[in-house]
Amino acid sequence: AARFGGGDVQWVTAGKGIAIGRAHLILRGMTEVPQYNIIADELAAETTRFDNAIKASRRQLEQLRSAIPENAPTELGAFISLHLMLLTDATLSREPLDIIQEQKINAEWALKLQTDKLSQQFDEIDDAYLRERKQDMLQVVERIHNNLVGQSNELNLETNLLEDTVLIAHDLSPADTVHFKEQRIAGFVTDAGGPTSHTAILGRSLDIPSVIGLRNARDLISENEWVIVDGINGVLIINPDDTVLAEYRGHMREYKNRKRALNKLKKTAATTEDGLNIELLANIESTEDIKQLHSAGADGVGLFRSEYLYLNRDTLPTEDEQYEVYSTLIKKLKGKQLTIRTVDLGVDKNPRWFGQNASPNGSLNPALGLTGIRLCLAEPVMFRTQMRAILRAAAHGKVNMMWPMIASLTELKQCMVHFETAKRQLAERGEEYGEVSLGCMIEIPSAALTVGSLLKLVDFISIGTNDLIQYTLSVDRGDDSVSHLYQPGHPAVLKLLQHIIRTANRMGKSVSVCGEMAGDSTYTRLLLGMGLRRFSMNPSNLLTIKDIVLRSHTGRLEEESARLMRNEDPEKTDKLLKDLNKMDEAV
Ligand code: PEP
Ligand code: MG
Repeated sequence: AARFGGGDVQWVTAGKGIAIGRAHLILRGMTEVPQYNIIADELAAETTRFDNAIKASRRQLEQLRSAIPENAPTELGAFISLHLMLLTDATLSREPLDIIQEQKINAEWALKLQTDKLSQQFDEIDDAYLRERKQDMLQVVERIHNNLVGQSNELNLETNLLEDTVLIAHDLSPADTVHFKEQRIAGFVTDAGGPTSHTAILGRSLDIPSVIGLRNARDLISENEWVIVDGINGVLIINPDDTVLAEYRGHMREYKNRKRALNKLKKTAATTEDGLNIELLANIESTEDIKQLHSAGADGVGLFRSEYLYLNRDTLPTEDEQYEVYSTLIKKLKGKQLTIRTVDLGVDKNPRWFGQNASPNGSLNPALGLTGIRLCLAEPVMFRTQMRAILRAAAHGKVNMMWPMIASLTELKQCMVHFETAKRQLAERGEEYGEVSLGCMIEIPSAALTVGSLLKLVDFISIGTNDLIQYTLSVDRGDDSVSHLYQPGHPAVLKLLQHIIRTANRMGKSVSVCGEMAGDSTYTRLLLGMGLRRFSMNPSNLLTIKDIVLRSHTGRLEEESARLMRNEDPEKTDKLLKDLNKMDEAV
């Protein structure tokens, strides 16, 4: 047996769960790129040939997008739209035409030259998320190329695929996965892709065990060979022996049983053993995510990241456009609470229109630059437009609005002034608006340390542990080379968390955690022990957290976590957390 991943090497786990099945290799990919010169007389015909390939690609993608099955992941439409956008962008649809004309070469060759240039540009991008969009670009190029050479773009899976088929591909594009649910694939493995690649995101949403980014797995696996895809630990095992197979069959049963048991908790209230109600909320990024929120039985939205309204477009979203989105959210939530965070751009999320105004990617320390609320305060028109849209939507149901990346009381006061202006502008227009609760994120140490004075001005706060950890420990949250230093359980982080939660509770103000820590079961009991009663997380973690809440006694946890809080040695945190997490189990 050969084993990939595990130990020190963690591959990207995309879809959780375990699949045991027979490998089916997808040997598609770009065929050889033909290279020849074109005589002057035939240049016009060659450019038409390229144009036709673009048109065909466009038709195919539009057709795919309009026929997405009901049970496909909600992101799929957006991903295919992104491919359409890349396709129609001048860099792919026009510039190759110039190359054909200037260098008098065939369309496939021109496309290849242009792709090499674009690939290099992508590789030079600092930001990991944007860099990974290269994969999307290559998938679009592959489609154009196939249309040029008259090769099918369909992932031709036989209809009689066995249920235990594990697909092994170099890469899978969003278009390839459109029918995965119907095709009942057991698992999939790819060589390409990173943690934020669309293949990984789709793997998670499809809920199909998968491991991606294995680099050369496809070369090492033969058709029909037995493989185990462990999407929980990011491990792929080829040709396992009977002992390993038996072990994994056991793991698989356990995983399925646990999932079934968790699903039964959907309608159960999240009440602790000592009778406290804990609010479990969802982090969402689009109106589509509400489906997932309801199916996980969340109490509402604790964080709507509004950035996605601003990305993948050339202009700012208008007030009306935003009003529509926020109103739709309210409607779809059917009375459940909604917390909208005003736009938090910069660092890892840079819209194109941002361009020359500020260039966080060009600055040395983008995370310390003009991001989040700083950018909003520098762009008051954009800021107030969003707040007016939120206020107008609130006429249909109460909204909590929160400001990201607040570092000081000064900024909070400035936000208040803009908020009042936004209200006045609506009043002057005679526009109807509703009640909005005001809050801010606590995700910068300076805000954490002065949280008492911030709390005097707002109705609620939400702790963004993702950034709070990054800034407290001085560890870039997206940098692999220092990821071992990114420790949510570092005593310094825990002290800040305790201070924030205690202060808010003492002042009778609502406090939640909406960073990843809220959905990480390792910290649920500790946070309960600190006095946290509101958790906001990716809906996929919600039932696991609820299960822990149901088996926790906050009274006992308060005492136990006090011991943990006295520790200042990061190396001891793990052991102390283990003890705390075992505690109630023994009861
Ligand atoms: C956070 O920083 O914890 C947070 C929730 O915000 P984001 O991850 O969007 O920066
Ligand atoms: Mg943040």
